[in-house]
This record gives sequence, structure tokens and C-alpha cells, in this order.
Amino acid sequence: MSSRRNFLHKITLSTMVLPLVANDVFSKTVYMHNPPYQGPMLKVAIMGLGSYGNRVAEAMQDCKKAKITGVISGTPSKIKTWQAKYNIPDKNCYNYENFDQIKDNPDIDAVYIITPNALHHGQTLRVAKAGKHVICEKPMAINAKEGREMVDACRAANVKLLIGYRMRFEANTLEIIRMRKEGELGKVLFFQGLSGFRIGDPNQWRLDKDLAGGGAMMDIGIYAINGARYMVGEEPIWVTAQETKTDPIKFKEGVDETIQFQLGFPSGAVASCLSTYTMNNLDRFFLNGDKGFAELQPATGYGPIKGRTHKGTLELPHVTHQTVQMDEMAGIILEGKEPVMPVGGADGVKDMVIIDAIFEAVKTGGKIGLSL
Ligand code: NAD
Repeated sequence: MSSRRNFLHKITLSTMVLPLVANDVFSKTVYMHNPPYQGPMLKVAIMGLGSYGNRVAEAMQDCKKAKITGVISGTPSKIKTWQAKYNIPDKNCYNYENFDQIKDNPDIDAVYIITPNALHHGQTLRVAKAGKHVICEKPMAINAKEGREMVDACRAANVKLLIGYRMRFEANTLEIIRMRKEGELGKVLFFQGLSGFRIGDPNQWRLDKDLAGGGAMMDIGIYAINGARYMVGEEPIWVTAQETKTDPIKFKEGVDETIQFQLGFPSGAVASCLSTYTMNNLDRFFLNGDKGFAELQPATGYGPIKGRTHKGTLELPHVTHQTVQMDEMAGIILEGKEPVMPVGGADGVKDMVIIDAIFEAVKTGGKIGLSL
């Protein structure tokens, strides 16, 4: 925790923080570095120039330790636009057929995979084989077996595998983790995680099992799973789950619309969570202990995140999540920095094990034991 607090302290005291539009979800906080950063820079190629890839790229313009040096895309017109915007030379542009050639490119240290879920596994294996570090979006894969293979491949290639868990670097979230660790909430008894939104276009890849690996659970329910683990501070030992489907045409076989699930932890704490593609205004974490509570609402959106505890409202500065994430990940990759909460492949596998168990619990109606 102390390194994170130092980081925030430094932002507040020794650098200038200029909040531009504080209450807008798309707000951007520019933070300037004084004295200018002169340390190592992580050179990143973005794979998948879609909606989230664009958001990450915009945010990386304010990074001090990471910069975009390459792109991997199947769409030449997107590559041209990105080259002009981010000053990327032709020699650092690849497509999905030839990107194994990055192995010979010293301008690229890491590839950030931001493609549909089912592609993450194969693409990670290829990037690892090319000897480059992998940052992979959530869900890291579509099941635990794939996730483990990705961890093994990156270990064998001696490259890092990090998962895009941006909330694990978010200031309000980290403050609640600090409070919980220091006993300010007392014994943790209960977590509630509500994660959902109403999905639009029925033809998008998120509703195609072959590309998404599932439905809401893979995409948004994973936030409640990941959140339950870091908010409670333990790994669950059992799960139960129930599915409801109101629109079997839009949400076909294997594409979950709404799943409620419950997790049990070794201490006796329990979690009650909801994952859905049918309801808006569902982005809330609530943690209850015998001495106090903590709430995040919104808990995982692009921010500003709002935190509140039994002691009052949290007043922490909003910094664009992906800017912080990429600077922190550069620190992990280049300097061996230890994050407050792990974001490595092994952590991603734990979420995949829980998702596998949730799907099994839905099918069997039973309580599934977990060993994480
Ligand atoms: P998107 O559809 O906007 O972009 C996906 C990109 O992948 C597109 O540029 C598309 O052209 C490309 N692509 C490559 N091969 C493809 C194929 N075979 N089929 C379809 N598209 C293909 O999706 P997105 O919202 O950018 O999501 C991408 C990944 O990022 C997903 O894994 C998603 O879960 C993750 N994501 C994470 C966050 C976060 O906050 N961490 C937010 C949004 C999305």
C-alpha cells in the first residue's frame, strides 16, 4: 500500500494536477511530471484498434513510463489513422498474419491485446513466442485451461503476462483495501457486487459465443468476481449460481444474459453478486464488516469512481484509469515493481476458474467447491 500512497502523495505535492472536467465520465486529468521523467520507457504495440484500444491509446498519451510505438490490426485504414495520430513508422505496423515478426523489432517491448475474448489465448501464445511481454485484456481467456496455457507459455518464453485489471490501480479502491487491511472495517462479513449494463446491437461479437466465450459473465460479471476477491481479501472456496434469461433469441445457448452468484470465503464471509446484460445502473460494490462498511458506486466504470465508508466520503483525485494502469504496468515490467494487488496471469486464471465453476453451478444447480 505504501508505494501507492506515495504515488498519490507525489501526484498531489510534487507534481501539478490539473483536473479538466472533474465530473464527466470521459473526464481526463492531465498530470505533469516535475522534474521530467528520464527513466526507462515501455514501448507498446496495441493489438486490436477497436473501441477500448482507442481509449487505452488516448490515455497513454499522458503516461510517463509507457508509449505506443506499434500497432497490429487487420484494417489498413485504421493503421493509417493511428500512424498519423501517434507518429508510428511503417516498420512498426503489423497485421494478424505477420505479427510474429515483432520478434525482430527492438521498438516493441510489449503487446497489449485488446481483441475479442476468444482470440486472447492464441494471440498471447504467438506474442510470447516472439519474445515480447503480453498485456492482455480481461477476460484473459474463455476458460481456465486456456488461461493456464497462457501463463505457461509466457513463463517458458521468460516474458511477463499482465491482465488489464485497471481497477486494481484505482485510488478509491486502493484506499478501501488499505482500510480493510488495517482493520478499520473490522471482520469482513459480506460483499455485494452488482455489475451490468443493457447491451445494444444483437449482432456484435459480445453476443457471439465463438468470439466472446459466453455472455455478460465474461464481459462485465468478471468485475464482480475480481472485486469480490480484492474487496474481501480472500479467495473463495465455493460458488453457487442461478441463471435467468428473458430473451433467448438475443442471448443464445451459451451466451448468458443474467446470472446471480454467491461466493463463500474461508473466514465465513459471503458474497452475493449479479452479472447482467439486461439492466443499466448496476455498478456497485458494498463491503460490510463488523466495525464499518465501504461502498464504491460507480465501482468499475471509467470514472470518476465514487467511494464512501462509515467514516464519510472518499475524496481522491481522478486520474484516467488506463494512464495509471499503463504507467504502473511499465513499472512492473521494466523495474520489477510489486503492485499493491497482483495483475499477473496467475490472478487472471483465478477469475477463469471461478467463471468455469459458475457455469457448472448454473448447469447442475449445485454448490461447486473451489481451490484457488
Ligand atoms: P471492439 O469490438 O470495439 O474492438 C475489438 C477489435 O478487435 C476491433 O478493432 C476488431 O476489428 C478487432 N478484431 C480482430 N479480430 C477480430 C475478429 N475475428 N472479430 C471481431 N473483431 C476482431 O471491442 P472492445 O470493446 O475494444 O473490446 C476488446 C477487448 O477489450 C475485450 O476483451 C473486452 O473485454 C476488453 N475491454 C476491456 C475494458 C476494460 O475496461 N478493461 C473495456 C472494454 C473492453
